[in-house]
Amino acid sequence: MSLRLITGISALRAELGERRRRGESIGFVPTMGALHAGHGRLIEEARKQDGCVVVSIFVNPIQFNQAADYERYPRGLEEDAAFCRARAVDVVFAPGVAEMYPGSRCTFVEVERVSEELCGRFRPGHFRGVATVVAKLFNVVQPDRAYFGEKDAQQLAVIRRMARDLDFPVEVVEVPTVREPDGLAMSSRNRHLTPEQRREATALYRSLQLVQNRIAESVLDTRQLRHEALELLSKTPALRVEYFEIVDPELMQPVDTITGPVRVAAAVWAGSTRLIDNVVCRV
Ligand code: AMP
Repeated sequence: MSLRLITGISALRAELGERRRRGESIGFVPTMGALHAGHGRLIEEARKQDGCVVVSIFVNPIQFNQAADYERYPRGLEEDAAFCRARAVDVVFAPGVAEMYPGSRCTFVEVERVSEELCGRFRPGHFRGVATVVAKLFNVVQPDRAYFGEKDAQQLAVIRRMARDLDFPVEVVEVPTVREPDGLAMSSRNRHLTPEQRREATALYRSLQLVQNRIAESVLDTRQLRHEALELLSKTPALRVEYFEIVDPELMQPVDTITGPVRVAAAVWAGSTRLIDNVVCRV
């Protein structure tokens, strides 16, 4: 079946209602477009598990805390639709801002604690915007399963918690991070990097790997681990570290001594481009 490109909520509901009646399960991949192999991996997972794969493409204004970042976020619906068509996506839902947010807004979803640290500390309102749009999209799409990348681990934790606390009948599926051959996590923002910044950006993943290796060697004091990681990052002065934290994987709160699984997560700036990455470590 060919790809259906839908921009309206009621048209999407009609299409998905029909497919549900035919007995197809709905797999949902929410994105902001500028699709790359990371998104491709999410689509692939959905394609394996669900009868109908829906990809949403919506650059959500309420999750950007800087207008300039929203303005320069890459957009290209035609290319994205071709990307989806090549991966046998059934439906692309690409609503305009007026469709998703007609008039003024009074209702938001706030996921406390999980949203507090890491990106939440530096991007006030970001996760409220994410949780709100994903809640709206869950209500519109009513997926059986929704696929999210481990690349945005805090976002994944926020969505998991929201789905659990608000009883969304959806299985949240975590998909591993897709990386460039040199380790840099794929991101729509990577295209903003100059060739030099692109080379330097690899230090981010190397700093995470360093901590991963040290934890495997039983260094469990997070102050020591952060110190070593920041030392490595300081050798690439062009990268400005926003945060480097070791947190528990559910509430995303910093831990002092590692006694169970942790997420090691960092954000750095390369010029005006913000990069995030994380790895999970088990002791
Ligand atoms: P975005 O379009 O950046 O909002 O991302 C949409 C979805 O794709 C989110 O669930 C992301 O975590 C996921 N994603 C983005 N980059 C990657 C990657 N490199 N590997 C795996 N998933 C990713």
